[in-house]
Amino acid sequence: MNLLLMGPPGAGKGTQAVLLRERLGIAHLSVGEMLREAVKRGTPLGRMAREIMERGELVPDDVVGDMVLRRLAEPDCRSGFVLDGYPRNLPQAARLSEILREKGRRLDRVVSLRLSLVELLKRLTGRRVCGSCGALYHLLTRPPKRDGVCDTCQGVLLQRSDDSEQVVRERLRVFEEQTQPLFEHYGREGILSEVEGAGTVEEIAERIAAVLELAAA
Ligand code: AMP
Repeated sequence: MNLLLMGPPGAGKGTQAVLLRERLGIAHLSVGEMLREAVKRGTPLGRMAREIMERGELVPDDVVGDMVLRRLAEPDCRSGFVLDGYPRNLPQAARLSEILREKGRRLDRVVSLRLSLVELLKRLTGRRVCGSCGALYHLLTRPPKRDGVCDTCQGVLLQRSDDSEQVVRERLRVFEEQTQPLFEHYGREGILSEVEGAGTVEEIAERIAAVLELAAA
């Protein structure tokens, strides 16, 4: 199954994409994750992307398009994939359809996670990520067993540098301006399903499973 998870920053795309990867045995493609990895390693791409990400803006379309093209060619994507955070504007959506068409593939479904602004701000400011293995936590909804320490690998939990309130507001503005038109685009293609993004991780996962018509977990 080839899926796209869409929604504003903080809607829970990353968390749900990991669950879908495990449940369906498909690859998880997060451009944000790939970029953060490049920043951490200090590669030329990372050096270029760092400031853009810290401002909450979008990295150039051709750069992220090339990353997705390369990633989709990797063997784990053969059985399907869940795209998380790409495409984020209409030109990226056009590039994605071109990439998939050339590979004889297509998106089966686009799942849109909907959440109110108040809830988004609460989610983003409480979000923590393990600096070693990338596991996601939330101070309110998914706290680690020990304060500031990853349950899985004992790594240190960090706040993403773009999760400060000021940058979060800019990321939400960019979402409204650039990503919002994609809902209409995929709605016209008849592959868009809307899912309420409030609730527990498990509740949201079950709503997504229902629109994808997956058997009960
Ligand atoms: P995310 O982890 O998806 O919230 O992405 C974090 C940051 O990475 C974004 O605020 C952008 O700066 C950059 N980024 C992620 N995905 C894209 C994309 N599709 N196009 C451009 N920039 C992106």
